[in-house]
Amino acid sequence: MIGAGPGGMTAALYAARANLNVAMLDRGIYGGQMNNTDDIENYPGFTTIKGPELGEKMYQGTVKAGVNFVYGDVQNVTVDDQQMKHIQTDSDELVASAVIIATGSNNRKLGVPGEEKFSGKGVSYCAVCDGSFFKGKNVTVVGGGDSAISEGLYLANVTDGVNVIHRRDQLRAQKVLQNRAFDNDKIDFTWNTSVTEILGDENHVTGVKIHNNQVGDDTTLDTDGVFVYVGNFPNSQIFNNLNITDQAGWIITNDQMETTIPGIYAIGDVRQKQLRQITTAVGDGGIAGQNAFEYFEAIKHRQTVKD
Ligand code: NAP
Repeated sequence: MIGAGPGGMTAALYAARANLNVAMLDRGIYGGQMNNTDDIENYPGFTTIKGPELGEKMYQGTVKAGVNFVYGDVQNVTVDDQQMKHIQTDSDELVASAVIIATGSNNRKLGVPGEEKFSGKGVSYCAVCDGSFFKGKNVTVVGGGDSAISEGLYLANVTDGVNVIHRRDQLRAQKVLQNRAFDNDKIDFTWNTSVTEILGDENHVTGVKIHNNQVGDDTTLDTDGVFVYVGNFPNSQIFNNLNITDQAGWIITNDQMETTIPGIYAIGDVRQKQLRQITTAVGDGGIAGQNAFEYFEAIKHRQTVKD
């Protein structure tokens, strides 16, 4: 397993319960993006659960099943003549019959002047991590998807006010989140508007330059912080040599989570698919874990027949 988010942990659980020897690699703490999520309300079995708490529960399940958690930053994966997979990390090489890629996705940047300069000085990609620095202040959220709106709602609880700047006049987020945000007195919306620059003094963000996409005018808004939620890109660059991605880098699989390389599976957010959720990552993980077991059994059977 490469990646210990909800998909990777589920695949590890299924594979370990099928008696496979499972190493679950991650370059950070287990839990993946759940660690940056406050309340999760659409994971069945829990009316509301904090992201890190759900991650911990999933992890404890893998421990109980006998999964080995291994810290390691994977550099690349190669396949030898015997179809064995060599997983090169920053400090070690692991060899496995099957690999399940569950490396997820990362926050896309806005790509405007000031974003990099003020990153950590008012520009953030994680409301749960940084929201408390903005107590008593006003912040801007950029984006109109589930992340922007759910994290905007979180920020409305800890700051004085939130202005959501969205490039269109309609949100992409789920209706239930939209309605909650529209009903929240501390959340305002600036529609049909793009952020073109993030402004600040020596140490902090002080405002944003914005462009109205309909009227065409440019203005400046004061703000103490900018939370960027403009989508994700797949963490798949380390697999470029395997040639298993589409043009945008999402890994292509069939509905059995198989890539074009026998014994290499991809699951969760890194996979080319429509709905990227914890529930769908978990579903992908169960399928891949079971298929890895069947792949392993087939190899064993072929070996026995050969001998
Ligand atoms: P997303 O769904 O791709 O939404 C990205 C938002 O950013 C869109 O509103 C998009 O505008 C806007 N955007 C993209 N590029 C932009 C740019 N250069 N400048 C300004 N705005 C830009 O990404 P996400 O919200 O991070 O969600 C990622 C995935 O995780 C989704 O599948 C989502 O459903 C899932 N997720 C689910 C939950 C939940 O269920 N509670 C929570 C978080 C995330 P347009 O709408 O105009 O394209």
